[in-house]
Formats: sequence, structure tokens, C-alpha cells
Amino acid sequence: MDNKTKSLILSIPAIKLIVLSGFYILLQIVILLQRPFIQYDFIFMFYSSLIFISGLHFLSYILKIKSSVVVSFLEILIILCLYKSQPLFASFYLVMILVLLFLAGLQLEFKDNVNLVFATSVLVSVYNLFFIKWTGLQNILNLGLFNLAFIAVLFFSTQLKLELYELSESLLKTVLKLKSKADLAQLLIENMPAGLLAVTSNQDVVFSNSTLEKKLSLDLSSAKELIELQKSSYGQQNSNEIAYYNTALADKRYYQIESTSYFDSDYEQNIQMHLIKDTTRFRELQDKIKHQEKMAAVGQLAAGIAHEIRNPLAGISGSVELLSQDAQNPDDQKLMRIILKEIDRLNLLITDFLDYSKPEKRPDQKTDLALILDEVIQNIKLSAQTPKDLIYNIQIQTAIVFGASDKLKQAFMNIIVNAVQAMNDRPEKILSIKTSATADCIVLEVSDTGSGMSLEGKKRIFEPFYTTKTKGTGLGMAITHKVFESHSADVQIESEINKGTQFKIIFNKAI
Ligand code: ADP
Ligand code: MG
Repeated sequence: MDNKTKSLILSIPAIKLIVLSGFYILLQIVILLQRPFIQYDFIFMFYSSLIFISGLHFLSYILKIKSSVVVSFLEILIILCLYKSQPLFASFYLVMILVLLFLAGLQLEFKDNVNLVFATSVLVSVYNLFFIKWTGLQNILNLGLFNLAFIAVLFFSTQLKLELYELSESLLKTVLKLKSKADLAQLLIENMPAGLLAVTSNQDVVFSNSTLEKKLSLDLSSAKELIELQKSSYGQQNSNEIAYYNTALADKRYYQIESTSYFDSDYEQNIQMHLIKDTTRFRELQDKIKHQEKMAAVGQLAAGIAHEIRNPLAGISGSVELLSQDAQNPDDQKLMRIILKEIDRLNLLITDFLDYSKPEKRPDQKTDLALILDEVIQNIKLSAQTPKDLIYNIQIQTAIVFGASDKLKQAFMNIIVNAVQAMNDRPEKILSIKTSATADCIVLEVSDTGSGMSLEGKKRIFEPFYTTKTKGTGLGMAITHKVFESHSADVQIESEINKGTQFKIIFNKAI
């Protein structure tokens, strides 16, 4: 039984009280209108029945009896006493008894109900036949009609109660169904990957989901600001993506907002609903793909050319070597040595480049980054190009990853040589190399206190042939990037002009 039906049935004593009060007031009016005016035994009975019935209700209230066959029976008995003292209003009492039976029928169990109707029927019959001496065919017929009416009330009240139950049951089911649908909708709204904000025309917030604050780190005022920004820049940009500085994340992010409106009957106005998506990561991936496509195209083209250069170079160096054997003049010999050295340099560049354009295999050997780094640092320390006043800050621990050690050595060498070169003209030269481990990653940080990079430099660093050095090839970082890519390592660069650069390379731990 749901609460509404319960409260309806619980309110029956109150209804009964109202009905009884109405009955007594009506009866009082009838008495006053009666001629002859004073009938002592009836007036006595009227007031005593009033006192009895009030006492009965007071008692059942004190004893917290909500529905009882005894209370209902006593009520009927009291009304019958009235009937005995003044049979003139027979139909009036009868109606009252029927009403009381009906109300009791709504409250009581079916079995109690049948008992009550049966007892009432016997009581009324005994009263009529023995006390009032209601005999004769007409009266017996009347009595029969009375009893029939009691049974009809029993049937009617039971039927009504049944229907009420059924109605409340189906209502309850519908409410539960609706509630589960509403719960599901709420769950979906709260957990969807986009932020949701609904505002009135005065920008009062009607609704917002938790994604907005928790996942997008946008509080309500920033979200509103973002929406205003989108409105003001509408049509100015090619895409509906807008750039916004997220103060909570202290980062520039890209957002896409889709808006729609609906009429809310509570607010009596159109509510604007905004769906806010953070597309920064998507944009980064797009940029990365574009970059990779560009690299692949450049690489393929250049690899073809490099291959074609190698053959004539071999021809040139062979010829020069032959010529140098015959050359007597030391000046000529010196020049030829220079030619051969430069040809070697060109060959090295081509080897590097072909290395770069060769597809990398995914490494499956366990390697310790610490050992490779040690070797690279040793080489740097021994190199004549390394400034003498370079300060080393090395914190390396064993770090096992799946990797190709020769490739990684080349990549680390490229990064560290660049770092050392960037510090050449700087008064303070500190090279820091540090490894650390998280639950499933190894992080390698290489930082320098060198020249740093411009935004453009940071963007183009991995492009083949991008260099800012007069004698640079611009291939070092392109090769390095490829090596890290084949190791599924993520590279992050932070750099500030005249302060320095930090490379952070994140490897998956080998398990
Ligand atoms: P190269 O060293 O031949 O110039 P790289 O591919 O190794 O080519 O590097 C590309 C460019 O990236 C460099 O010319 C330099 O401008 C920049 N760069 C790389 N590493 C650093 C660093 N640690 N500090 C400053 N700039 C750097
Ligand atoms: Mg380099």
C-alpha cells in the first residue's frame, strides 16, 4: 500500500467524526423543529448517546485504536438506542448506520467487515422485531430491505477498497518506473563526458552537471564567461572551437560548445542549455597526426634523393683518391684531403638520414636505461667539444624498459649534445640528468641552463633539417623523436629563452 492510500484510510476516523457531528447537528435541528417541542426521554437519549459516542471516540483516540470492529459496532449500537427512543426518524438513523458501515468497510479487513454487517443485521432485526414490535408484512419487508442495504454497503465498500488498492498499486508501479527512468537520466547526465549548463535569460543557473567542475575544471562563472565568449566570437572563427584560458588548470584550453533551448514551465521562459566539450586533447592529436604525415612525406622524398647522392659521392671519392696518389704538390694533397673529409661528412649525413627514414621496429629486449646513460655521459665527459666548466647533476637509477640500446644511445646522445651546445655561451652551465619511476612508467628528465627555445623552435624541433646552428644538420632531434616513437615513449619539452630547456621522456616500465 502506498502512502497516499494509507493516509486516506488513516483519515477515515476524521471523516467519521465529521459525519457523526453532522448527524447530531441535523438531529438537533430536527428536534428543535419538532412539535410538541419537548420529549424528555428522546432528549435524554439524544444527549446521552452524544456523550457515549464522544466518549467512545475519545477513548479510541487515547488508546490509539484506528480501526476496530468493536468501535464500529458500538457506534451502530448507540445510534440504534436513539432509534429505540424515537422511531419516528427511522430512515434518518438507517442512513447514518449505512454511512458508518460504509466507512468501517473501507477500514476493516473483509472478514471483520462481514462480521460487523452480520452483527448489525441481527441487532437491527432483533430491535425491530422484539423492542419496537415491527411486525406485519410491510414491516418485515422493510426489515428485509434494511438487511439488503447492509449487504449492498458491504459489497460496495469492499469493491471500492479493492479498486482503490489496485489503483494505488498501479500508481506506485508507474511512479517507481518513472523514478528509475529519472534516476537513469540523472546518472547519464552526471557521468557524460561533456559539461552541461542550463541558464535563464538572466544568466541564472538552472542546472549544471558535475562533469563541468570535476572533469573540465570549470566553475559556474568560468563556464558562463566561456559561453559569453563563444557568443561574441560567433561567426568570426572557422570552427566553433574557442580558445580559453582556464584559470583553475592554469592552461590554455580549447572548448566546443553546442547550445539549444527549451521552454521550462516552472521558469515560464526559454532556458538555454549548453553542452561544453574540452577538445584540447583532440586538437593535440590532430596536430600530431598532421606532423607525422608531413614527416613521412618529407622523409620518403629525401630518402630517395639521399640514396641517389651516395652513388656519385662514391665515384667522386674514388676518383679523388686516385688523383691524390699522383699529386706531388703538398698544397694539392691538402686540398684533396679536405675533399675526402667533406665527402665522409656528407656520407655520414646520408647514413644518418637513411637511418631516420628507415622504419623502426618495435623493440622487445629488456634494457637498462641507467647503463646506456652512463655510457653516453662518459662519452660527453671525454669529448673535446664539452666545455670544461660544465657542472653535472646526475641522479640515475636502474630503469628497465623494452628498448634497443644502440638506438636509445643515439637518441640520448643527440639530446645531451644539444643541451651542452646550447650552454656553450652561457655563464652558468648545469646539465641535469635524472631518472624516476612511477607505478608503471619510467621518467627521464634531461635539463640544461642553455639558450632555451622560441615557441617556433619548440614547435619545429622534430622536423627534419630544422636547425638554428650554422653547422647543424637538423636531423638529430628528428631521429631522436623517431626512436622514442618506436619505443612508445612520450616526449615533453619545456623551454624558456635564456633560461634553459627540459626534456621529459616517459617510457613504459618493462614488467
Ligand atoms: P642540430 O643540432 O643539428 O641543429 P637537432 O635536430 O639536434 O639539429 O636540433 C634542432 C634544433 O633544436 C637545434 O638547432 C636547436 O635550435 C634546437 N634545440 C635542440 N635542443 C636544444 C636545447 N637543449 N636547447 C636549445 N635549443 C635546442
Ligand atoms: Mg643536434
